[in-house]
Amino acid sequence: NRQIILAERPTGTPDHRSFKFVEREIGEPGDGQILIQTHYVSVDPYMRGRMIDAESYVEPFKIGDVIQGGSIGEVIESKSNQYKKGDMVIGMFGWQEYYIANETEVRTIDPNFAPITTNLGVLGMTGLTAYFGLLDIGKPKAGETVVISGAAGAVGSVVGQIAKIQGARVVGIAGSEEKVTYLKEELDFDEVINYKKSEDIEMDIKAACPNGVDVYFDNVGGDISDAVLTQLNRFARVPVCGAISSYNLEEIDLGPRVQTVLIKKSALMQGFTVGNYADRFQEGASQLGQWLKEEKLTYRETIREGFDSIPDAFLDLFKGENIGKLLVKVGK
Ligand code: NDP
Repeated sequence: NRQIILAERPTGTPDHRSFKFVEREIGEPGDGQILIQTHYVSVDPYMRGRMIDAESYVEPFKIGDVIQGGSIGEVIESKSNQYKKGDMVIGMFGWQEYYIANETEVRTIDPNFAPITTNLGVLGMTGLTAYFGLLDIGKPKAGETVVISGAAGAVGSVVGQIAKIQGARVVGIAGSEEKVTYLKEELDFDEVINYKKSEDIEMDIKAACPNGVDVYFDNVGGDISDAVLTQLNRFARVPVCGAISSYNLEEIDLGPRVQTVLIKKSALMQGFTVGNYADRFQEGASQLGQWLKEEKLTYRETIREGFDSIPDAFLDLFKGENIGKLLVKVGK
């Protein structure tokens, strides 16, 4: 059983030194357990936070631990009466080729509803993050302007489409011309800014949002968010989902103070994690599934091949190499 473990904690931008490939015995499933062969693993920006030893909403990885994260696999041996050989399951078994799970640790997924990979993306954790963050905190109304950073990523691309479904005007911020074209032509965004080509991001946001910003869905933090916040309208809402621009910084990043703008605009800024909505996942997943069936929601995935490519795939998140959900296909 090949596994990837945390070898050392990164400082700054992570690289291969943090990861080590090891080979360990698979073992035998006991009563109530199943043996799973991994087919797809998810790589996610939040894993960067778990690689350091700091308090957060999830426990840090320990040195020597298998990197944990969302994965999909096939039951190849079952000693549980809840699962049979051939069932496809999803769980947090992470970066390893095989895993012995207790029956409560995973759940089955339906390969007939949509491609199984959607359970790690548009119908899974990142889709639910978009759904609850936008609708519960952002609360966009028809005709309002919604700005999204990290707009072509797994979360951002779903946020933009849900905002369009609500009748909002949608402005994306992303890091390549390919992403700009994708968001405009395939997802029907009204305006998209390539922040890597922008000479004055604040001016570009102002030009793209002549009526100001009513909702800012923040995936990246840093300079981009500082610029968007200057354009907020009265009673604007800012769901703070992620701050990927700061995850690899070695020193605390100081920006403008936001209190004044929040007061002047009576704006709401609220951080959240998708786990806050665990008791409503069913509602979110079935609505996302319905939109997918109705073709109101589409998705792209960036799928890498092979167990060996998992660390590179993860590192590529910080270089912006993905459109939509980034996954690695490891078996079958
Ligand atoms: P993405 O698919 O969006 O991948 C990450 C993207 O971030 C890259 O493609 C890149 O796109 C962009 N990026 C990387 N570095 C920078 C930078 N320095 N400045 C600006 N953009 C950058 O990942 P996810 O959709 O999975 O996650 C998006 C955000 O949401 C992350 O911050 C993540 O931590 C957060 N998140 C939060 C959750 C929650 O519960 N609160 C749950 C899931 C995700 P580009 O080419 O545009 O730069």
